[in-house]
Amino acid sequence: MTDIASNLNQVISSIKRFAKKYDRDPASISLLAAAKQQSISKIQAAYDAGQRLFGESYLQEALEKMHRLPKDIEWHFIGHIQSNKTKGIAEHFSWVHSVDSMKIARRLSEQRPDHLPPLNICIEYNLDHEASKSGIESDDALRELTAYCLSLPRITLRGLMAIPAKQTSLEAQRKEFHQLVERWEMLRQHHCVLDTLSMGMTEDLEAAIAEGSTLVRVGTAIFGKRE
Ligand SMILES: *Cc1c(COP(=O)(O)O)cnc(C)c1O
Repeated sequence: MTDIASNLNQVISSIKRFAKKYDRDPASISLLAAAKQQSISKIQAAYDAGQRLFGESYLQEALEKMHRLPKDIEWHFIGHIQSNKTKGIAEHFSWVHSVDSMKIARRLSEQRPDHLPPLNICIEYNLDHEASKSGIESDDALRELTAYCLSLPRITLRGLMAIPAKQTSLEAQRKEFHQLVERWEMLRQHHCVLDTLSMGMTEDLEAAIAEGSTLVRVGTAIFGKRE
């Protein structure tokens, strides 16, 4: 498991290096370890190396892991959300990055337990209209869902998330992320207090940081290929 610690340190160094290259404060970029389909022992190794934010994509798998891992982990739900899973998500996670409908937002707010702080959420935008991905697909839908999320008492809208289509050049990757940044800025101009741009994974980390990501979700570079 020493390789998990060294992988993690390499990812942290890359984040610092890219932050410097693009004139950004490295402290403004959080690292979420995307742990879906990774073993508990690997997650524990990342935890032992200092990592505290972990992302999961499947509720059942996440609940089993939560049960067996340290209690001070901050769990983020980053997968597609079916409405019959909102209760478990609202009860067990601190963040949800993949909200893409009013129905899901309403259920998460209604089902967030009173003894917990409001659930932090991001709205997922499907930039390339890919059928395989979740996310809203128009600016009208974005404005409508944003206003609705802001009206709900038990969720706090923090920002936007996207998983762009695969691109091969840094420039093409940056173009993708830039589309999300433009929407984020549009909402901020309309007095919406947002502080989170959830973008960037193993293959497009540099592009995401160049475009202003505040939270990168990295799996493969930390844990290796998924099982
Ligand atoms: C799996 C996953 C990641 C991590 O992807 P890698 O390419 O392994 O870094 C990031 N975000 C989401 C939403 C994911 O499902």
